[in-house]
Amino acid sequence: MKSVKYRPAQIEIDLSAIRKNIHSLQATLEPQTDIIAVVKANGYGHGDVQVARAALEAGATGLAVALLEEAIKLRESGIAAPILVMGWVAPEFADIANEYGITLTVFQASWLESYYQLSNSTAKLPIHIKLDTGMGRIGIREESELNDFLGKLDQSRINVTGVYTHFATADEEDTDYYEFQVSRFEPLLEIIKQSVKQDLTIHIGNSAVSLRHLNHLYHAVRFGIGMYGLYPSTYLKENRPFDLVPALSLKTQLSHVKRVNPGESISYGTTYKAEKHEWIGTIPIGYGDGIQRRWQNFEVLIDGKRMPLVGRICMDQCMVRLDQAYPIGTEVTFIGQQGKESIYLEEIATHLDTINYEVACLLTDRLPRMYL
Ligand code: PLP
Repeated sequence: MKSVKYRPAQIEIDLSAIRKNIHSLQATLEPQTDIIAVVKANGYGHGDVQVARAALEAGATGLAVALLEEAIKLRESGIAAPILVMGWVAPEFADIANEYGITLTVFQASWLESYYQLSNSTAKLPIHIKLDTGMGRIGIREESELNDFLGKLDQSRINVTGVYTHFATADEEDTDYYEFQVSRFEPLLEIIKQSVKQDLTIHIGNSAVSLRHLNHLYHAVRFGIGMYGLYPSTYLKENRPFDLVPALSLKTQLSHVKRVNPGESISYGTTYKAEKHEWIGTIPIGYGDGIQRRWQNFEVLIDGKRMPLVGRICMDQCMVRLDQAYPIGTEVTFIGQQGKESIYLEEIATHLDTINYEVACLLTDRLPRMYL
């Protein structure tokens, strides 16, 4: 079936915003610090291949994803830049990663042993070693664990090209835990350098660390949320070194407009009842698109003004209280700018009691992405 767009609803991604955010960060980094663009989870909902291309054009030198599937998708789209998989990949799939020229994250001595048994590859496997300095997710935590890992590391079969860690609180004002993590990273790194005597790409910073410059950033930063023009936290939004430009807008149109009488109710569960004669618009978007039920009572932009979503959000539709009658087809902006008003993901995340990362990732594939 040809891809035809019948429904008037789309996500627009402004790739020039992605490029601008990379350029702004670059201008504040030391010239030798590279930018690895983080495009996991379909580029935080923005589209991985398109964002990756824009980021590389703007000067990013590598890409990072969470899954081997995501990395292979980038390669198969013709992207030749270095790609790091940051999540755990089973050792039986390491040869596939190697064939695609994809770098894996490795941190378990048992993984190395399984790899030696399972692999048929004659080419050395490129890996980055992950250190868990306090995130508590994946990585080597202790000196003894690291020594055990390095003892099993056969450098004729494995090519350690990098070392990294990830911070749990770098977006918070209080830097105590961040500093504690740095203090755990440095001695572990020294031990690795004694064993792996070759150039290593060392990278510790996510967006928060790169924006704040809390520390020496070593060779590269892993720039995720900031590249999309979103702030890692309210603290960083309030203390930003430069303005980020949001790349994502979500636009649709009114599909129906009606005048309801006082006392008439709207949507499942009759949670909303009109107090007087009201104009109610219907919007062809719902939780099947990632507009969760918790958006109820939040606002959208119509005619450059904020108007409230009333009644429960349905799977494919929701309703808005209008300040007057509008023609069918009038533009409705859920995310982005309309006239002088704007609603960005940070504000939505606050209403939904979550973070902008999650709201962007939950926008489903049913909404076509258009690239500007
Ligand atoms: N590095 C790792 C290991 C991550 O898991 C992530 C994202 O969660 C990033 C870097 C990018 O973080 P941010 O989007 O805050 O820049």
